[in-house]
Amino acid sequence: MMPVKTAMENPLHASAALTSVMARVRPHIRALSPYVPGEQPQGGGWIKLNTNENPYPPSPKVAPAVAAEIERLRLYPDPSSRRLREAIGRRFGHPADGVLIGNGSDDILNMITSVFASSPGVGHTVPSYSLYPVVAGLAGAAMVDIALDASLQLDVRALAECGASVFFLTSPNAPTGVGFPLSAIRTVLENSSAPLVVDEAYVDFGGESALPLLAEFPQLIVVRTFSKSYGLAGMRVGFALGHPEVIQMLDRVRDVYNVDRLAQAAALAAFEDVAYFNHCREAVIATRARVRGVLNQWGWFTYPSVANFLFTQPQHPGSGTGPAVAENLFQHLLKNRVLVRYFSQHPLTCGFLRVSIGKDVEMDHFLEITQQWLNNA
Ligand SMILES: *Cc1c(COP(=O)(O)O)cnc(C)c1O
Repeated sequence: MMPVKTAMENPLHASAALTSVMARVRPHIRALSPYVPGEQPQGGGWIKLNTNENPYPPSPKVAPAVAAEIERLRLYPDPSSRRLREAIGRRFGHPADGVLIGNGSDDILNMITSVFASSPGVGHTVPSYSLYPVVAGLAGAAMVDIALDASLQLDVRALAECGASVFFLTSPNAPTGVGFPLSAIRTVLENSSAPLVVDEAYVDFGGESALPLLAEFPQLIVVRTFSKSYGLAGMRVGFALGHPEVIQMLDRVRDVYNVDRLAQAAALAAFEDVAYFNHCREAVIATRARVRGVLNQWGWFTYPSVANFLFTQPQHPGSGTGPAVAENLFQHLLKNRVLVRYFSQHPLTCGFLRVSIGKDVEMDHFLEITQQWLNNA
């Protein structure tokens, strides 16, 4: 790395000029707390169960599809990702002009707040996906919180009446893995015409989808991603389904070439390989059930998960449960190069760890290291 000159040494960085530049940063950007992603270690030797990636590689059809695009990389990609939109529309019985493709679904969440975030703010449940406050903040909007209690039931009345200019509902929820029933989502839609975004990043692992409600409720936007169930987190492709007029508004704020050629080709190939997709998600679901069985045997409270992770409350024979216990196991796993996720910030999460479902051998290793920790009374 080049040594960085301090402001004192480098007249270009003279502090009066810097102060003047910084004073021009728009206040809502200055006030923003950036998103904190899970650790992405770049070396090998880690068992990575911290960011809910798929443990299996993408469909074998992806590599040739991507390779075939290489010589066309001199050309701009299709700005509207038309083939992918049509394939998604066909599969879900939805018009292609009601489908929007994003550079990851995070890109779509950002488009949604650009279009809909206004006073009194953007709604979400607490806890849920921690990116929502960031995209709301980029749009200069505040948050409207709907608190969940330990039952994790959705207070449909509070949600329908909260007045948020747009509401993000993660279902299945993160980091808990608990799905909200379609009947609850229907009740919200029947009682509020504000845009409701159902973020279904994890729905393919067993959740109930809100897609069947699209025909009835134009305020509903369903967001999905290729990052989890299709094993393409590194490619950055997500999509939204909604009423074509609403999708057209979101499309206005989309970067023109937001999804590159390789990503469009990879997503299409993965989407069309239904047999492989089903094989991988069934493997993840089976592993989830097995690991859950062991946690149950240990007597750990674990929320019923319909996602590709388990949210569990570690219990130690010596010290019981609680934030210190959860953090202690987190550190023990880390020392043994097993990465899981610990959310210390909220009373509903601080006694728990979120463990992504890996391959069977990875989960066996996780269980073994955890068993060591249990044995160290
Ligand atoms: C992982 C995740 C996403 C999305 O990701 P992209 O990789 O940007 O598609 C969206 N919402 C939730 C709740 C997630 O956990």
